[in-house]
Amino acid sequence: MKVLISGGAGFIGSHLTERLVSEGHDVTVIDNLSTGSMDNLVSVIDDIKFIRSDVEICDIDGDFDRVFHLASVANPTDYMGMQLSVLSSASVGTGKLLDLSRRSGSRFYYFSSSEVYGSHGPGGSHSEDSNSNVRLLTQRSAYLVAKMFGEQLTRSYGDRHGLDVRIIRPFNIYGPRMDVISPYGRVMTNFLRRAIGGEPLEVNGDGLQTRSFCHVYDFIDGLMMLDSIGGDVPVVNIGNPDPITIGDLAELIISITGSHSEVVNVESVRDEPRYRCPNISLMNELCGWSPKISLHDGLMDMYHSMSS
Ligand code: UDP
Repeated sequence: MKVLISGGAGFIGSHLTERLVSEGHDVTVIDNLSTGSMDNLVSVIDDIKFIRSDVEICDIDGDFDRVFHLASVANPTDYMGMQLSVLSSASVGTGKLLDLSRRSGSRFYYFSSSEVYGSHGPGGSHSEDSNSNVRLLTQRSAYLVAKMFGEQLTRSYGDRHGLDVRIIRPFNIYGPRMDVISPYGRVMTNFLRRAIGGEPLEVNGDGLQTRSFCHVYDFIDGLMMLDSIGGDVPVVNIGNPDPITIGDLAELIISITGSHSEVVNVESVRDEPRYRCPNISLMNELCGWSPKISLHDGLMDMYHSMSS
């Protein structure tokens, strides 16, 4: 297959690139390297075509069988400072790649975010048909509005032109190569870096907020299983349905790393979702997928990749 991956030098994109190259596909990556890195592609650099550009301004020629649009800033601290880039990639960038997919007759994948849901209630979970519960016009909302717009554009375009489009909502994906550039990582990288360095792990707020963490290898497996099925595919959640509080995550990381770091509570983050957990029944029904890697094993893997 001929495949185009926008954001292929990023965390998830580089794992997808490696997987598709290892399966013998002809892969082109487009990335502006704003939050990705060529280091993420060392194992495949001789086997791919690489274009350094913003998706929005790039005129890509060629026929593709698959287009994966992952290009976006994804880390909250980064995206709150790069709101226009996020909005542009999800709107102009998505439009460009949809046009390219239409010219090629390609299947198009749009990577949205669990952020579009906001928070559910305690003990709940988000199904694909759950209502969104978000506040608009906050520092954080540019990202989720961009992702919502990208979803809607993808769906409307697919309906209008009869294009095979698929929309994925990833939930807190983690694993090797996460946050290679950003000094402020997401919670996993922050906690692991600090535990390894013997610095305090800073839990925002009371630490009772929950997230459900899905290892990137499970995520890529799910994506490949979904790609193996034909026909119309509705928007799907891909994540791990096992939530943990951020306070418990800090303790787990201390224990896994054997660190002497302390855990401290600092100011809470405004407007972030309190509870986030996916319902993954739909992915399971569609293609039999469920995640296999426990949080403990996934953290060990990430710890080893960061401390080696
Ligand atoms: N968090 C934290 N300490 C950190 C980084 C993050 O307590 O050093 C919290 C953050 O406030 C949120 C959760 O961990 O409640 C997950 O944050 P992350 O930035 O990884 O992703 P999010 O799910 O918020 O997009």
